[in-house]
Amino acid sequence: MAVAKGLQRKRNMREILIEDKLISEEQYKAAEEAAKKDAKSFQQALVELKLVPELKLLKVLADEWGFKAIDLSKMEPPADVVQLLPEALSRKQLCVPFARQENVLFLAMSDPRDFLIIEDMGLRTGFDIKPYLALAPWIIKVLDTVYGKQDSAQVAQLVESVQQSQSQTKADGGEESFSLAADAEKKDISDIDATAPEVEKLVNAIILGALSTKASDIHIEPFEDPNGKNSKVMVRYRVDGMLRAASFSVPWAFRQAINAKIKIMSNSMNITERRIPQSGRIQIIAKGNPIEFRVEMVPTVFGESCVMRILDRASVRVDIKIMGFLPDTEKKLLDQFAGIGGKKNFGLVLVCGPTGSGKSTTLYACLNYVNRPDIKIITAENPVEYNIDGIVQVPVNPDVELGKGKRFDFASALRSFMRLDPDVIMVGEIRDEETAHIALEAAMTGHLVFSTIHTNDAPSALERLTQMGLPRFVVANTMKAVLAQRLARRLCKDCKEEADPTPEELAVFEANGVKVPAGAKVYRAKGCDICKGSGYKGRCGMHELLVLNEEIRLQLLKDPSAIPVKEIAMKNGMRTIAMDGLEKVLLGLTTVKEVLGGAAEKE
Ligand SMILES: [Zn+2]
Repeated sequence: MAVAKGLQRKRNMREILIEDKLISEEQYKAAEEAAKKDAKSFQQALVELKLVPELKLLKVLADEWGFKAIDLSKMEPPADVVQLLPEALSRKQLCVPFARQENVLFLAMSDPRDFLIIEDMGLRTGFDIKPYLALAPWIIKVLDTVYGKQDSAQVAQLVESVQQSQSQTKADGGEESFSLAADAEKKDISDIDATAPEVEKLVNAIILGALSTKASDIHIEPFEDPNGKNSKVMVRYRVDGMLRAASFSVPWAFRQAINAKIKIMSNSMNITERRIPQSGRIQIIAKGNPIEFRVEMVPTVFGESCVMRILDRASVRVDIKIMGFLPDTEKKLLDQFAGIGGKKNFGLVLVCGPTGSGKSTTLYACLNYVNRPDIKIITAENPVEYNIDGIVQVPVNPDVELGKGKRFDFASALRSFMRLDPDVIMVGEIRDEETAHIALEAAMTGHLVFSTIHTNDAPSALERLTQMGLPRFVVANTMKAVLAQRLARRLCKDCKEEADPTPEELAVFEANGVKVPAGAKVYRAKGCDICKGSGYKGRCGMHELLVLNEEIRLQLLKDPSAIPVKEIAMKNGMRTIAMDGLEKVLLGLTTVKEVLGGAAEKE
């Protein structure tokens, strides 16, 4: 039977859908038209019109065509696997790699019947391709998540329309106008008015391209061809640390108008000055959020070159004062940063907790707090999550080999930082012995170092460092503080309901040594329109801050195990994560259940 099925001609989508009466002729036509009108794939139109349930469609196609199916709607394939194929090719063929195992690449395809495509993908990637059937809209969603939405096509269209309207002007306008290619080298085309609508459109398109690809920087650079034919203004975006050419280039004739327009937008740069470097700032509103750019213009032999760095203010405004520390914990933490600068405050501050516990947000908040013009801060991050103004941020990638045995990882970044004489260093994560050694060495030699480590509580972080082979006296003398944290869901303030604590809840307070004042109330989650019925909105941090003092240092020299260290720290006033969370229950911020769930969370 299996053989017979293999020999049968496989029915195409139309035959399957109509013969099996999944949809009617009319519905098929409607989907076909919708697909044509919006330049989408047929599968996508079919799903969007909700003519066939997605999983049903997947199943019939998989059965009919004889391929395994994969439900991509529930998956988030790793970006490095998705990127094994070029974006344009993935979009064109509607396919996306979703997993890799040794030499086999698992490829989700909207139509895996085409053997030639599979063979081509194999040749391009060097992997054996294992095709799976997946629906087109899922594939597109994965591509959009990894590469950003496909606004780049719109941008390219925009640029094209501007180019067309320019050649139109030339045709209509006689001698007065210019030809894009021929005149470019003869005449200084500063006569394109910076206020012309095309210029604004182009600048918008360039910025839109950056936002849609989640770029950190935009580079707009003129390259003049001596023959005048291939002169162009190249637009490149830095995405995840890598420079990528935009899918379009700006007509040469616009090179000065664009820069002039950007200068006008900055309100502080001189439009007529093109021979000296200038910098400024631009603020725009995109999707309701203010986004700020730092603009640098530098004269080059071919004209001004412009770099715009996106300062996403919404994200960088991580203020330690609004992170939900209890006042005494906040004071203890900020005390660690007193007198910074001039190598007088040095040592290592660690933040620990499982993935998703908000470690990096806390680190950024600390950096923001110590950030001032006379303090040099440098970071090694993988990847750079937010841009912070005034801080040198270096993306590292421990997983990519650069030449034989060479990697730009946290350890090598740290080593190079020491030569740059910073005051503050942030290194994304201490996950191996080498990084641990260098981080502590940096901390010993006059730098305030911030990092994260994967342990569940603060005392364990100290023990972990000694387990990584660091001498006890180094850990004892160099560590300043360890902050462990978790996140609990925050009660929706619009619907939370006051209640008396239950006996079970009171027992939890008692077991953790948190006093409940007589008549104290707690709150319960209810649910309203604002919190979409969940009863919770946003999250709040639960913190365990261990500040090293003389007693703890002596204990570390004697025995760095977590348990005795924890005892001393608690005697000195350290709250555990659960204790901190329970205090927040009494403040009406969250519930006992959330605290227990969050505090028990494992790595
Ligand atoms: Zn609510």
